[in-house]
Amino acid sequence: MSLCPNCQTVSSRRSALKLLGSAALLSSLPSLGSNAQASPPRAQVLILSCIDFRFIQPEQDFLNQRWGGRYDWVSLAGAALALTGFPHPAEAETFWDQLDLSRRLHQIQRVVILDHQDCGAYASRIDPNLSQDPEREYQIHSRYLQEARQDIQRRYPDLGVDLYFVTLAPEFRLVL
Ligand SMILES: [Zn+2]
Repeated sequence: MSLCPNCQTVSSRRSALKLLGSAALLSSLPSLGSNAQASPPRAQVLILSCIDFRFIQPEQDFLNQRWGGRYDWVSLAGAALALTGFPHPAEAETFWDQLDLSRRLHQIQRVVILDHQDCGAYASRIDPNLSQDPEREYQIHSRYLQEARQDIQRRYPDLGVDLYFVTLAPEFRLVL
């Protein structure tokens, strides 16, 4: 007599579910494959944002509205600041690697960088009280954003680069 009379039943159900799952996956593969061959995936832009959790949802809403969901997305603490090698040169290298891949895999034409208000990365690198002077904060972010655009266009002159400073409101301020 089995010590666990229900085990067989549970196990059978699991196997059946597994099989159903495999069948569903297999039946979806041919069409996925042919679609992929017919039109390689294309994104319009590569996003670089900070990792800050407070801004992810509003940024996603903004980007979906602006770019219809067709974007690749890299998050590195400090966003534009990461391109200066914050906190380590590896972060800048990571961005360049991801940009290269995004171009080759998805043919992006543009990079969008989203810096934001009250950024802990800028506070730790520039000034712990930076966010207490909103105008100075905006000016410093603008400078780093513009330098990031120059760095990107030095390497990839054909890429457009849009710069935004996102406030806690949230409001998306375009940096020229
Ligand atoms: Zn941040």
